[in-house]
Amino acid sequence: MLNEEMLHLGKKRSAIRELFEKGKILKEKYGNNNVFDFSIGNPSIPCPKEVNDLLICLINDANNNDLIKLDDYKFDSTILHGYTSASGDKNSKNAISNYLNQKYSAKTSPDYIYLTTGSAAGLAIIFKAITNSKENEVLVFAPHFPEYSVFINNSNAKLVKVNPQLDTFFPDLSDFKNKINNNTNAVIINSPCNPTGVLYDEETIKNICNILEEKEKEYGHPIYIISDEPYRELIYTDDKYPFITNYYKNSIITYSFSKSLSVPGERIGYILVNNECENVDDVYATICGAGRSLGHVCAPSLFQYLIPSILGKTSDLSIYAKNAKLFYDELTKIGFKLIKPNGAFYLFMKALEDDDEKFSKKALEHNLLIVPSTSFGIKGYARIAYCVKEKQILDSIPKFKELYNEYKTKN
Ligand code: PLP
Repeated sequence: MLNEEMLHLGKKRSAIRELFEKGKILKEKYGNNNVFDFSIGNPSIPCPKEVNDLLICLINDANNNDLIKLDDYKFDSTILHGYTSASGDKNSKNAISNYLNQKYSAKTSPDYIYLTTGSAAGLAIIFKAITNSKENEVLVFAPHFPEYSVFINNSNAKLVKVNPQLDTFFPDLSDFKNKINNNTNAVIINSPCNPTGVLYDEETIKNICNILEEKEKEYGHPIYIISDEPYRELIYTDDKYPFITNYYKNSIITYSFSKSLSVPGERIGYILVNNECENVDDVYATICGAGRSLGHVCAPSLFQYLIPSILGKTSDLSIYAKNAKLFYDELTKIGFKLIKPNGAFYLFMKALEDDDEKFSKKALEHNLLIVPSTSFGIKGYARIAYCVKEKQILDSIPKFKELYNEYKTKN
């Protein structure tokens, strides 16, 4: 007998993938330059040359020597493609912890780092670790990354949505407070946010933490903050990034190098459990157990060995900042209503009708691929991924004008 739930999941593509596939058909019909695909968050900026050069060095070293030398680190070349320990190479974990402590004045420990195949795997492992029954609830600020619901369902827990403030897309903190109860295990923070591009300021983070600390006392058990941080480096303001372990004890970070280094296909990231977490050794052991149960053996070894040499390096992210400003200004000039993005690489646009799916279909008639917001847990908007070439943005503007005018002449 097949697992019905998995069958359903496998047959039903996500709205983003669905649109991405439609885009491929349209491109064959009309040509690549005449279809404007803003559907998927695939980085469009090359991975830094130094990262590619280091990879080549590692491979060449392995081919020619018994011992690989990478900066101060030396290791036997036979282990380059071998299994590492399940939680990751020690040198890599030490480097990550030192880097975070320096950059964010944090007090992380390498003992509570677990290397993963990106943040998606990190999330699946964390949910599996911290929830254990259908009564368990995980709070998610809407709009949110659609896969949260897949991973939360898979851990048998329940996703509970918290409404946003519609003028800023910061969380509505009174709704947040009201939705916490004795069954609440965790809340996910994703800042900068997919799909809105919003970055939570320090005050918002402090407010969230204060509410949770109060509720932890009231209910007598930890309520974890899970901070999903694939866009941590993609920030376009001078605002300080409030690093969560500096604000809240029971916090767990899931990080990914996918977006900052433009390496989403390499599948590399990490989970970090705050060493101030209640029963931290057990929390970390549960993460290790959950990883094991989900078939995690170790993160890709090649990138693990590279990590100490590449921490702090990023692709040229100023290109996204430029795209954000250009696109926001042009679409606003036409008359669209958008949230001003401070990070990530998405614009969140008010749809020109209540039904965002119909709006996205209408956009498709103009060869514009934008994702309806229902899949992000909110109605009436569309997400535009601007991790594309500047030319694609400029060439798409007349199409957005056509779309806008079509609605305006109707009403
Ligand atoms: N979390 C968010 C908010 C994302 O937008 C993504 C990918 O787009 C992920 C997690 C998963 O990224 P990865 O598994 O490549 O690290």
